[in-house]
Amino acid sequence: MNYEKLEKNLKANGFAVSHFKTGKEAAEYLNAKIDGKSVGIGGSMSIKELGLSDMLRSHNNVIWHWEGDNPKDAMQSDVYLLTPNGLSENGEIVNIDGTCNRISSALFGHPEVYYLVGSNKVKENYEEALWYAQNVVSPKNAMRLNRKTPCAVKGDKCYHCSSPESICCALSVIWRKPFGIEYCEFVVVDEELGF
Ligand code: SF4
Repeated sequence: MNYEKLEKNLKANGFAVSHFKTGKEAAEYLNAKIDGKSVGIGGSMSIKELGLSDMLRSHNNVIWHWEGDNPKDAMQSDVYLLTPNGLSENGEIVNIDGTCNRISSALFGHPEVYYLVGSNKVKENYEEALWYAQNVVSPKNAMRLNRKTPCAVKGDKCYHCSSPESICCALSVIWRKPFGIEYCEFVVVDEELGF
């Protein structure tokens, strides 16, 4: 990961950026920064692995569909927390979604949005970030969700299926901080997080 290039391009596109050696340090930073707020969370193995929702829940109102909450309630939260499926060093943010709650919240409506980004998500250019999102992240998510899709058998690549159980309903590419979000920060970690 060329962090200097990533930081320069994200800042030029209107985003704040912070950088940590470990996921634990990044989780502690977010837990200290987000206090007394309603916090919506998008599906994210990185956030789950770090136990960040438990940390935040002790002093915030956390709304996470992975913990039984209604994803529609998360759309009204002060803060939204997610991970990108892929991120290019040029600053393109790539997400593929099924329900599309995560994509929606990344685009509009929350005063504050934070992306937690492991080094495995950062790729040299848009094509590599999209390839990673399509051929690594989506098949692994389809496997995790026990979907009846060709990719879920081996989790090896995207077969560009038209299965009714496909989790790939929309692709979003964000180039700059959307006007409808007041503050958006990338919390970049030198370790691999999630997939
Ligand atoms: S389009 Fe189908 S095969 Fe490709 S990753 Fe999505 S669910 Fe899997």
